[in-house]
Amino acid sequence: MTPIQLIFTILFGLVIGSFLSVCVYRIPIGRFDALDDEGEAIPSGKEKLSIFYPARSFCPNCNNQLKWYHNIPLFSYIFLNGKCAFCKSPIPFRYPLVEIISAIFSFLSFYFYGVTLEGFIIYSFCACLIVMSFIDIDYFILPNIITYPLSIIGIILTIFNTFFHFLPTPFCQDLTDLGLGLLGAISLYIIAEIHAFIRKKEGLGFGDIKLLIVIGVFFGWQASFFTIFIGSLVAIIFTILISLFRKNSLSNPLPFGPYLSLGCVSYLFYFFFSSLLI
Ligand SMILES: [Zn+2]
Repeated sequence: MTPIQLIFTILFGLVIGSFLSVCVYRIPIGRFDALDDEGEAIPSGKEKLSIFYPARSFCPNCNNQLKWYHNIPLFSYIFLNGKCAFCKSPIPFRYPLVEIISAIFSFLSFYFYGVTLEGFIIYSFCACLIVMSFIDIDYFILPNIITYPLSIIGIILTIFNTFFHFLPTPFCQDLTDLGLGLLGAISLYIIAEIHAFIRKKEGLGFGDIKLLIVIGVFFGWQASFFTIFIGSLVAIIFTILISLFRKNSLSNPLPFGPYLSLGCVSYLFYFFFSSLLI
């Protein structure tokens, strides 16, 4: 990768990251149809918001429309010193954080999978995982409005790949891969049912199962099981660490989406290294 391409992939990731922040903020608000089946009430009163309306960003505190130079990814946050230019209320660190994470995955995707269609799809997939993870952290939901279209896109890509072989592994190569890819979601569903039966309450959301369906139809069974394994492992370690510092945290609900997402991206980039070794 040339230095120019390197800078371009990072800037591209920052710009898209800025859009992802908008998605994280706007998708859940007032969109009950967009929510998961067991989704909690979402703050309403801003029902007119959508991803594309209003086109210009505004400060949620003072409602002032931002000028273009308040809206430059990462750099605006730095030169505004993390405060709204109008009312000086703090801008959540979440905004530059999402942009930085997006830039990292843009770099990784294009570096490892090339400036190709494959690299572009891998990055877009990571971008969706970023949006879903942050929404899950806020509301404990993985919105249907993201998981449903993604599943359909994954199925269509795999059908085309079966005939034209335009996407190499880790993408599903044929419909058998896709069918086996659903095994991860099915096993998670069985675990959820057993847990619900024993504990008499739901432990896993359907959103998590839908996310695994998405991962399965895109990348097959190895990706699904790797995702469940790494996601659960990190979630357990993290929960134990937290419980050392806080009481009763073991009974608190835990958004599983970010851990599954972490498992999935580890697979995507681990896969690259393991395929190099082979
Ligand atoms: Zn403001």
